[in-house]
Amino acid sequence: MPFRSNARFTLTARAIRLPLIALLVSIAAGASRLVMNPVVVVPDTVRDSLNSVWTQANLHWNEIADQNTLTQALGTGKPTQKEYLGCLIGDTDGDSVHVIGWIPAQDMKRFQFAVTGNCDNVPGSIGTFHTHPYRAGPEGEALKEPGLSTQDLSTFSGGTDRVLIVVWDVDSLDVALRASDGRIVHPAPLLPR
Ligand SMILES: [Zn+2]
Repeated sequence: MPFRSNARFTLTARAIRLPLIALLVSIAAGASRLVMNPVVVVPDTVRDSLNSVWTQANLHWNEIADQNTLTQALGTGKPTQKEYLGCLIGDTDGDSVHVIGWIPAQDMKRFQFAVTGNCDNVPGSIGTFHTHPYRAGPEGEALKEPGLSTQDLSTFSGGTDRVLIVVWDVDSLDVALRASDGRIVHPAPLLPR
């Protein structure tokens, strides 16, 4: 089975910024009418470790400014920053999701703009997180992807995971959750604990 339900392919979605924002706004507007109080609870210790993973996975992003986007996307240039996939461990309480920890995804294959792996055999797995590293712009500036991509959300919608988190900068998390009746809430409220 080459690509599991929790495989991540963000490459195509990164070129579609404006429609993504429009979609997020419409999802948020729809969610705010429907949601009672589903939340994702993430303890500070877990948040700290997610920050560490993101920082480690983002190293050297600024060493590839001389390579064009296609070279970066194909991964044929310098091996630098790569996405990372982790399996979130926790439990659910009605519509809410409590994350208590995570482990690396099995069979992880990491690229600059995509990551694959699976959490199928992880006891207590309730979903996944992955990272969005900076991309190097033509002037050497950091191009960030601030949030879950259209493809991320589409993949999540078609699966059974209860929660999906992307870390796109330090202390910058975007979260989607699946409520007990199956509806997708994005962006989902994030509570520290
Ligand atoms: Zn993504």
